[in-house]
Amino acid sequence: MAILTKGPRGTQDVLPGESYKWQYLEKKMMETVKLYGFREIRIPTFEHTELFNRSVGDTTDVVQKEMYTFEDKGGRSITLRPEGTAGTLRSAIEHGLLGDALPVKAAYLLSAFRYEKPQAGRQREFHQFGVEMLGSAAASADAEVIFMVCHLFQELGIKARLELNSIGCPACRAKYQEALRNYFSARREDLCDTCKDRLERNPMRLLDCKSPVCQEIGQGAPMMLDFLCEECTAHFEQVKARLNAMEVSYTINPRIVRGLDYYTKTVFEFVSDQIGAQSTICAGGRYDGLIEQLGGPALPGIGFAMGLERILMTMEACGAAFPEERKCMAYIGSMGEAAGAKAAQLTQQLRKEGFWAECDTMGRSVKAQMKFANKLGARFSVILGDSELEQGVAKLKRMADGSVTEFRLEASPQEPGSLVKVVYDSCLEEVAGALKTE
Ligand code: ATP
Ligand code: MG
Repeated sequence: MAILTKGPRGTQDVLPGESYKWQYLEKKMMETVKLYGFREIRIPTFEHTELFNRSVGDTTDVVQKEMYTFEDKGGRSITLRPEGTAGTLRSAIEHGLLGDALPVKAAYLLSAFRYEKPQAGRQREFHQFGVEMLGSAAASADAEVIFMVCHLFQELGIKARLELNSIGCPACRAKYQEALRNYFSARREDLCDTCKDRLERNPMRLLDCKSPVCQEIGQGAPMMLDFLCEECTAHFEQVKARLNAMEVSYTINPRIVRGLDYYTKTVFEFVSDQIGAQSTICAGGRYDGLIEQLGGPALPGIGFAMGLERILMTMEACGAAFPEERKCMAYIGSMGEAAGAKAAQLTQQLRKEGFWAECDTMGRSVKAQMKFANKLGARFSVILGDSELEQGVAKLKRMADGSVTEFRLEASPQEPGSLVKVVYDSCLEEVAGALKTE
């Protein structure tokens, strides 16, 4: 039975009491990047497996070990997206977005899937917010994307450290790969089996291996920064200069290679010290050959993705303030069928005004209804019974202090003395009272 009552390993539920945090976060993210011209793109949850093999790279951990790949009923190989860049670029190419008005700026919020060993900050289904800026090779684009993250983190109350590196272009990387091959060959026997294979095909991937032995060997490896060609050096200098000009602080971390093959030149990570081992909360970089490699025009691009779970953990750790969740405005309690029908009508009037209102849908006693109203934290309550129906008048009670205002049951919502008007007036009084004591 446990299989029915426990979700699959590495998945997480966002419960009704927590979802307001996600909604706040997602709204803030989209709103902030909109100031920079990024608009939302929505892409499919699954793509042809080949798309990820080609872009993420078939010697990466993601492709070799982590993808959820299956054959569909038509015999196609399908993969649940492990990230958002490949699908976004596929979509931009497919729909001809790259024809004019460059740069194309797209942002996404999506779930991603990787078969990893679950632990704090590492799940099998997780969520990413990311952007892609397509069409600009200029260092100003790298800088803009990076300081947009800083802007967003400021909005969210997150403190994180920016680490920067350049991993060059295919031209300078060839020499670097050769140097790495020489370096790691000396200790070939100690490498994990995957890395033995990578040594031939893509030695840079060894630097991103999670095996402790490979990591230890990697410590003394040559560094890409020492192999950058003139153009890549100049680009990196320009990115740094622009970041300096924007007063963005960063450190150079020559060990960042990123876990995906498509990156070129600038790569970066935002790291939080407050959430334990899985501390990279945002990661990104430039991918200048990727669009063409996927069958599109020869255009450069740059982007980042951040893990929403890790961002939320960081916000909690930083003591960031989430806006308070909206409270129930009024509970309209009732006794008996006729009063119940009236309560439903009045509740509906409040909802049409945009207030969260509740009435009994459980067949509870009045006492139990009021207990529930308390649990909801309702600001006001009403109790309707036969005598209220007869007199056509009922009382709106402010739960905080028990003060009472009468309203007319049959008044239309716009009329003075209606429930809606009395609720508005009581709210105004509350606001005015709070302002007076300030
Ligand atoms: P890591 O080194 O932590 O495995 P990565 O290099 O695989 O990260 P990217 O592919 O660049 O990460 O993904 C960008 C961001 O997405 C990460 O910085 C992280 O915040 C988040 N992320 C990646 N994998 C997971 C996961 N399995 N669970 C939760 N968040 C994740
Ligand atoms: Mg990973």
